[in-house]
Amino acid sequence: MKILVINAGSSSLKYQLFNMTNSTVLAKGLCERIGIEGSRLKHSPLDKETVIIDQPMKDHKDAITMVLAALTNKDHGVIADMTEITAVGHRVVHGGELFSDSAIIDADVMKALEDCCDLAPLHNPPNIVGIKACQEAMPNVPEIAVFDTAFHQTMPPEAYLYAIPYELYEKYKIRRYGFHGTSHKYVAERAAIVLGKPLNDLKIVTCHLGNGSSITGIQNGKSVATSMGFTPLAGVLMGTRSGTIDPAIVTYIMDKEKLSFQEVNEMLNKESGAIGISGISSDFRDLYDAEDQGSKRAKLAIDMFAYAIRKYIGQYAALMGGIDAVVFTAGIGENNSDLRLRSTQGLGFLGLEIDAEKNKICGKELDISTDNAKVRTLVIPTNEELSIALETKKLI
Ligand code: AMP
Repeated sequence: MKILVINAGSSSLKYQLFNMTNSTVLAKGLCERIGIEGSRLKHSPLDKETVIIDQPMKDHKDAITMVLAALTNKDHGVIADMTEITAVGHRVVHGGELFSDSAIIDADVMKALEDCCDLAPLHNPPNIVGIKACQEAMPNVPEIAVFDTAFHQTMPPEAYLYAIPYELYEKYKIRRYGFHGTSHKYVAERAAIVLGKPLNDLKIVTCHLGNGSSITGIQNGKSVATSMGFTPLAGVLMGTRSGTIDPAIVTYIMDKEKLSFQEVNEMLNKESGAIGISGISSDFRDLYDAEDQGSKRAKLAIDMFAYAIRKYIGQYAALMGGIDAVVFTAGIGENNSDLRLRSTQGLGFLGLEIDAEKNKICGKELDISTDNAKVRTLVIPTNEELSIALETKKLI
């Protein structure tokens, strides 16, 4: 069984083709600058050289056609023809309250996806365009939508409601949704395997720390609390996003700086977080270099990030009545040993204790706790594409 995973952005489209018999990636790639001058496809087949094909792609349908041509090409292809593709799994950012699980895409699901566009105007429309393009190119192949928000639909109302007039929740569905659900779910399932215990018996805090970061409390395999909210702006400080701030700051800045709604939105999403505090970079590798060279503001940004993570781990331990494991994943969580140490400092009282030597190892699945630690600290590389492929296989 071969499953194609598609992650469509506004002007890009990422793909991976999996052989599900052994979960290997047969090929992966990226279409860039779709609909803009200079569009190109970067295609990396298993055991063959990466090829770059410069060719105009006026829309996502052109992109899908190029992807299918690359996958079946006699030189750099990996399948004889597209009938080998059993199903397509699509990453969809927002499923609102309508989807608490992945869904086989039919006319009703398409309509529901369109209804969710209001909640994620930048992300859902390109996801839908990607789905339509695949439907046109492969009309008989089943398509599955896998949502970033679905995993968090198990949160209880006290965790997902905001204390604003209830009518606004009824009218506009303003509530906490949470994101990175595919990643949190995947690493929690892997953590249970690493720990050799059923996921249903575990209390885990998963820390997805990348350019966007979110932290989730998972009890008996279900998301019970998560740091991102109505949008992915909430929670811990991120590369360019502020994370949670006092909402009154927004109207105050708008008034003092004479900012429009768009300008303040831009500031909180693009000019805040690590770049806003450090004034140097949104990338934590640059911040560590700057800290080494004596930058106090780079150090402050790193300290603020670690502090926020520590606070969420503590909060979720309190909410779940203790924890069995903390999982670090994504670019920073998988690769930055120092951040793992700093963000768990002082949590010895909970039973967390990191082994300094094991913690030096990066990028692979590992228990980095000391032998006697009551709470295990794990590094689990995330794999959202594989997770989408597995969900797709489950549904078909
Ligand atoms: P992501 O959004 O998951 O790709 O993560 C991006 C973040 O991960 C950036 O802040 C990078 O600094 C950090 N990162 C990625 N790779 C490494 C690495 N090898 N070592 C340290 N940090 C890394």
